[in-house]
Amino acid sequence: MNAALSFWLAADAASTIGVLKRDAAAIQAIARARLSRLLFHLARNNAFYGRRLQSAGIEWADPILWLDPYRALAALPPVSKLELRRAGTRVLDFGELRPDWYSSSSSGSTGEPFRVYYEPRAWARLKYLVKLRARAACGARPTDRVALLDAMQSIRPVIGWGGRWARISVLEPAASVAAALEAFAPDVVYGLPSALLDAGRLLQQRGRRLPVRAVFTSGELLQSLTRENLVRAYGAPVYDIYGTSETKEIAWECPQGKMHLNADVVHLEAVDESGQSLPTGSEGDLVATLLVNRAMPLLRYRTGDRGTLLADTCSCGCPMPLMGVVTGRKADILVMRDGQRISPYALTCAIERIPGVLRYQVRQLDQTRVRVRAILEAAADRTAVTAQVQSALRFEVAPFLDADVEFVDRLPTGPRAKFRVVEPLA
Ligand SMILES: [Zn+2]
Repeated sequence: MNAALSFWLAADAASTIGVLKRDAAAIQAIARARLSRLLFHLARNNAFYGRRLQSAGIEWADPILWLDPYRALAALPPVSKLELRRAGTRVLDFGELRPDWYSSSSSGSTGEPFRVYYEPRAWARLKYLVKLRARAACGARPTDRVALLDAMQSIRPVIGWGGRWARISVLEPAASVAAALEAFAPDVVYGLPSALLDAGRLLQQRGRRLPVRAVFTSGELLQSLTRENLVRAYGAPVYDIYGTSETKEIAWECPQGKMHLNADVVHLEAVDESGQSLPTGSEGDLVATLLVNRAMPLLRYRTGDRGTLLADTCSCGCPMPLMGVVTGRKADILVMRDGQRISPYALTCAIERIPGVLRYQVRQLDQTRVRVRAILEAAADRTAVTAQVQSALRFEVAPFLDADVEFVDRLPTGPRAKFRVVEPLA
């Protein structure tokens, strides 16, 4: 491990992990001070964001930057992946790439690679410390054997951290993933819900029970049906994590089933069509501001997801604010006849109430029709399920909606083995 990274891991561990013991007001003060410092720095040293601040009438020494940093932030229009790609080096700190930075790249479903850079201190926090504290809050221990199901080109699992970590490729068949899991016998498993479920069901069918204490899912929308099936297959609680490859973890599920934001390192907003921040409780496009990275800052970055922030507090005692369920990718909204828009969440809620369906996928065929592909439980009645799917979609989603229902043994996944539950017309 690189010396700068080790240094920052040690230097920031206690304060980053200790934040969960502070109260909500203290966390808000940390976030506000970080935002203020970040904006002040960017106004002078970042060509891309400096320009955006100027366009909003905010100069580099404007008192608003420390008197009301949230108002200064709100004056900036949300930024998309495409705009950041086009900005090139102008979006980097002092306009140039530094050799000690870390980076992560995402290809996503668009197939356009996008790379975000982080200075070592930000990488230590976002990639390690913030994750560690959230896993610890859900009962994971530093001594746990951790299996990570990951999209990587390796037939054999990659073992690290003194034999306590195994990365298992989800690009391999489910039977190989299941065998690797069984051989490694993890305490904690981590991965895409669809890949975890495929492997978990195989183990379940063979009557094998892993000694797993917790299952952590991320990278896809976790449907409630998949969650129930995961709990059954692994015999352990399931905790979902919400994040993006650019921002790292934004929120995580606590033992009370609530999603807590990592509010000290990321500021999340739900915004309307014009980019205005919506009040808590209103669903909007989620935009994220990373408070701790200067290398390639993300300010009001469009995550592409839709969701809601909540004003409630949680009985688990964690002081971090809450968000509601992420209701889907904005790109997954179906545009139907007469421009009527159907949220993927409405479709999944309707189908998940039907007994006998293990997993499914919905693809839009035209402006009035969808194809539902489903994997059924062995005992399920196909004719009954077909009728139930058709009537659920008509009564609960849209009266004109027709469904072709098809039963399959497996469902296709997209790039990096990600499973997309709802696919609109291209
Ligand atoms: Zn909680």
